[in-house]
Amino acid sequence: MGSPFYSFLRQNNIVCLKFFLIVLFMGCISHRTTNHCSNQLIATPTTPTHLDVTSALEALSLDGYFSFNNNNHAAKDFGNTYQFLPLAVLHPKSVSDISSMVKLIFDMGSTSELTVAARGHGHSLQGQAQAHRGVVINMESLMGPQMQVHAGEQPFVDVSGGELWINILHETLKHGLAPKSWTDYLHLTVGGTLSYAGISGQAFRHGPQINNVYQLQVVTGKGEVRMCSKSKNPDLFYGVLGGLGQFGIITQARISLEPAPKMVKWIRVLYSDFSAFSKDQEYLIESENSFDYIEGFVIINRTGLLNNWRSSFNPKDPMQASQFDSDGKTLYCLEMAKYFNPDETNVIDQITESLLLELHYIPSTLFLSEVSYVQFLDRVHVSELKLRANGLWDVPHPWMNLLVPKSKIHEFADEVFGNILRDNINGPILMYPVNKTKWNNNTSMVTPDEDVFYLVALLSSAVSSKATDGLEHILKQNKRILEYCARADLGVKQYLPHYKTQGDWRAHFGPRWKVFAQRKSSYDPLAILAPGQRIFEKGRPILCNVLKGQGVGEVFYG
Ligand code: FAD
Repeated sequence: MGSPFYSFLRQNNIVCLKFFLIVLFMGCISHRTTNHCSNQLIATPTTPTHLDVTSALEALSLDGYFSFNNNNHAAKDFGNTYQFLPLAVLHPKSVSDISSMVKLIFDMGSTSELTVAARGHGHSLQGQAQAHRGVVINMESLMGPQMQVHAGEQPFVDVSGGELWINILHETLKHGLAPKSWTDYLHLTVGGTLSYAGISGQAFRHGPQINNVYQLQVVTGKGEVRMCSKSKNPDLFYGVLGGLGQFGIITQARISLEPAPKMVKWIRVLYSDFSAFSKDQEYLIESENSFDYIEGFVIINRTGLLNNWRSSFNPKDPMQASQFDSDGKTLYCLEMAKYFNPDETNVIDQITESLLLELHYIPSTLFLSEVSYVQFLDRVHVSELKLRANGLWDVPHPWMNLLVPKSKIHEFADEVFGNILRDNINGPILMYPVNKTKWNNNTSMVTPDEDVFYLVALLSSAVSSKATDGLEHILKQNKRILEYCARADLGVKQYLPHYKTQGDWRAHFGPRWKVFAQRKSSYDPLAILAPGQRIFEKGRPILCNVLKGQGVGEVFYG
């Protein structure tokens, strides 16, 4: 038979007659070469109308439901600058809801413009979880009480792709366990962060979150439900991890766990010398028995900095700390954490002290705090609540995340912090190194070509329309930084990448573009999935998409 349309009908004997007729009609208008339709339809193919598509979706037999109205929330995200209204939002209750909907759209063929975006918690920055006139899947409605923790030598938890990391933390803690690698903010979904990497201060040791997954269940762009792991369908497994949602919708993930500590010693120190700061960060990520979390941030022209810290940290030497004046300087804060249980306090104090003795920070700026493990991991949520209370959470967020090779970080810092950014950016500037030797290089994630590279995250909020902190100004500043990186040939890669042309995507992936495009043609050949990433275009065969810049032989035969 060959036609995806016929195989679809064979496998879905639960479909009702109404659905059969609608799909039959749509199959006729969308598949130019199927010979079970009238000649007239074959000769003059038309695109399914809005009404046809809506009726076909409505006719699907689902455990969940579609909403066709009041879907404005699905056209919004944390970035707050891109807004594409979908035709429908699917609120799935089962994996088969997702697979039958994707399969229906796949069977409509390439003449239908319909695309599908999985939406986790909608914390994308530039519309990546949106689908213009397509279907958005509200992945959080897949969540349920089915989270399952397995203790043992290699503990793990099975979770839904729409589960929030904060819920996983609370559930696994009931078993004295927790995931190893985190993001700074936990109100993000598993599918959302695994589509990028999931990087935080634990990544130097455990790699990003995509390194800490044993198995995935995925719905491909053909609507097939497939299990994958490093030994079963490894190409799909590694493709999906860091794959920007291009190859499948993550419906389940098996996340690796470790024994969870109860408490965290949380430490901040300041540097005025960038070399000393970065040298100490690099020393710590390479040391045996180091801290459990290492991050850092850059502070440009801020007043009263240490006073702000006092609400959550205590200065080691209050006298000296009160004499420190941060005003006007560019400073670098090294942030570290050591996990412990209450019965280990003495040993941990000694380890921490001996690690601090090796560092070169300004002595008066040592600040310490002890908090519970949950308070530490969920720290950004506290800021979220404060910002929300002041109406500052739902503003545009022109964030830019860069991965900078270690050998170029001084050059980068000189230009960016010494020249381009003259003032604080209305948001944190994170900066910390990670050790790529701890990362798995088979995933789709693209990193610089060096073993150690820095994450530099410019997390601006556009809180006004003023020339100095308005959206336009920040976007211009970001552009200047990107142009500088390209001009100086620093080998920088974007994290949470955003590009407007396929040429830029090809440059981003470099030699790995070939594999990325091959995977797209295997798992989502009609380019239905994650259209908001703007990498491939529906209606244009993947081969054609690829050929824009490369020869067929090069693409398919290496
Ligand atoms: P969404 O925005 O809903 O989706 C993101 C992309 O993934 C879209 O393309 C979408 O189609 C796709 N997608 C969503 N779910 C699935 C699925 N189940 N299967 C396949 N594809 C899917 N990132 C870090 O690495 N480290 C951090 O410390 C960090 N901190 C952050 C703090 C804040 C306050 C915010 C807003 C973001 C932060 N991020 C961080 C970025 C964050 O990881 C990404 O924005 C992530 O995509 C957000 O997850 P989400 O669930 O909201 O995904």
